[in-house]
Amino acid sequence: MAKERTLTILKPDCVRKELIGEVTKRIQEAGFSILAMKLTRLTPETAGGFYEVHRERPFFGELVEFMSSGACVPMILEKENAVADFRKLIGATNPAEADAGTIRADFADSVGENIIHGSDSVENGKIEAAYFFAESEVVANNS
Ligand code: UDP
Ligand code: MG
Repeated sequence: MAKERTLTILKPDCVRKELIGEVTKRIQEAGFSILAMKLTRLTPETAGGFYEVHRERPFFGELVEFMSSGACVPMILEKENAVADFRKLIGATNPAEADAGTIRADFADSVGENIIHGSDSVENGKIEAAYFFAESEVVANNS
């Protein structure tokens, strides 16, 4: 199977709970290579741009407020079947519905504050990666 890339964000609740190390360990133990990562803080404008597809949804305002409420850690990850496997690792959007042992089931408090983002397709992963990283910041092959 060909290698695929996905974009994750350790969200502000993950950073506030001091779970950067714990969650990153799970990601690496699941076989994902980190090709790029940074600590950054979104503004309401950049958070809104990232979640543009959700602009008309009732939770958009809260989502933007939350995502710009503190530092976050975006990463580009690589692995075979990365998009689907990563969604499996993080669990359902609502942590109450997430499978036991997933990152969201273990660490998230609510559907809004759910610790971590994962791209929903290879194509969106590329767009999301480019939202955070210049090509020069991406390590092409770190194995
Ligand atoms: N979200 C929310 N309320 C909802 C659905 C989503 O606050 O009813 C937030 C939540 O933080 C979620 C993000 O909006 O992670 C993006 O929603 P999406 O449906 O794309 O979920 P995801 O792909 O993150 O699982
Ligand atoms: Mg999504």
